[in-house]
Amino acid sequence: MTAKPVLNRAHFHTSVAQLRDLPYSRAEIAFAGRSNAGKSSAINLLTRINRLAYTSKTPGRTQLINFFTVDADTYLVDLPGYGYAKVPPAVKAKWEGLLSRYLQERDALAGMVLIMDARHPLTPLDRQMLDWFTPTGKPVHILLSKADKLSNGERALTLRRVKQELSALPHVSVQLFSSLSRLGAEDATTLLENWFSQAQQGEPEPAEAQNASSTQKESPDHTKDRG
Ligand code: GDP
Repeated sequence: MTAKPVLNRAHFHTSVAQLRDLPYSRAEIAFAGRSNAGKSSAINLLTRINRLAYTSKTPGRTQLINFFTVDADTYLVDLPGYGYAKVPPAVKAKWEGLLSRYLQERDALAGMVLIMDARHPLTPLDRQMLDWFTPTGKPVHILLSKADKLSNGERALTLRRVKQELSALPHVSVQLFSSLSRLGAEDATTLLENWFSQAQQGEPEPAEAQNASSTQKESPDHTKDRG
């Protein structure tokens, strides 16, 4: 399948600290992950724009939701990294409030890419992100990052274990990924391009209807029926 060149048009749009400042959006895909999991490297590789996501790492932006335009009113969203060893309770509370409400309530959000270090997958905060987001019925794609640091056997085992752990969740997919070796980059790009084009097209449709019809293509943007 030939991917439409949407991702490589990404450019910085805005940063927001509170939900009322979120921009108007037709569709967006959010990247989440523990700090240092390799989220910025993944975004840079997938957009093929070096240093794009490091914009989100400039001082003052690390706790913000950063929006990158990929098409008209369509965004790749870089969520603040989590899991810093020492976080003051007030900062943690603010993060929880912002992230949980964004993931649960953002109608334009079509799907979440969750980056987890393949050597330490499914930390409590990774599970927290899944707990907030999966009830929406929208898809989650997990990149098991830094897979180049594992042997072939370890990779296969990790992939199998993570899939098994999450097998009860219907809209979660998992793949191995490495920004260094580019392992899995093509698969991830194709998936994202599909999510974006599906979210931009077609009428929103509830997850139940997607499950009911095997002939219909999955449309992640089914949320406008929600308040
Ligand atoms: P973020 O905090 O999640 O945005 O993580 P970064 O993308 O900044 O990566 C954190 C560190 O891990 C950096 O030193 C990267 O060079 C390194 N890193 C990121 N992705 C990979 C990868 O696929 N393989 C290896 N070996 N190192 C990586």
